[in-house]
Amino acid sequence: MIYAIFVLKVILLILLTDFVTGFVHFWIDQYGREDMPLVGKSVISLNINHHKNPMDMTRRSYWSLTWSSWVLGFVILLLWFLAFGKLDWEIIFLVAYGAQGNIIHKWAHRPKSQNGKIITWLQNWKIIPNKQQHRHHHNSPFDTYFCVQTVFLNPILEKIRFWNGLVWVLTKLGFPPAAGSEVRGIH
Ligand SMILES: [Zn+2]
Ligand SMILES: [Zn+2]
Repeated sequence: MIYAIFVLKVILLILLTDFVTGFVHFWIDQYGREDMPLVGKSVISLNINHHKNPMDMTRRSYWSLTWSSWVLGFVILLLWFLAFGKLDWEIIFLVAYGAQGNIIHKWAHRPKSQNGKIITWLQNWKIIPNKQQHRHHHNSPFDTYFCVQTVFLNPILEKIRFWNGLVWVLTKLGFPPAAGSEVRGIH
């Protein structure tokens, strides 16, 4: 029973991580601008470049793809520790797994020959996104399928029009997205 609860907890944490990293991806794609301080040149422009040249990331190293996720992760861990005075394994799992987002994303762009048996198996069994599923995100104006760590959330979020609804609410509150403007390379 305890074992079953632990497995269920890990599955829920994986889905939660997929949602959290999907949300960060949504913010970068829809609201990020290259002239923003700190993140503009280092994070936003790299992401915009990914939409223009999707295969570029397949040639980049582990650290060049994950450093910004690790930095954000350590900020989350620090805030968690300051708030609760301890670091639970669940938050460490979320940060460590979340930091691999761009690596799983990279696998979705690489050919099968480079991915090897285990990654291809996970993609074939539709546990992590493969090329066909991730393709939905690469349709201009890049406004859906932001979750790149599993295949489970994207169809549900799309069905309930979650991201469109979020943009609608934020626009009503005075925060229209930058997407569709020149910073996306879309005219
Ligand atoms: Zn994107
Ligand atoms: Zn991609």
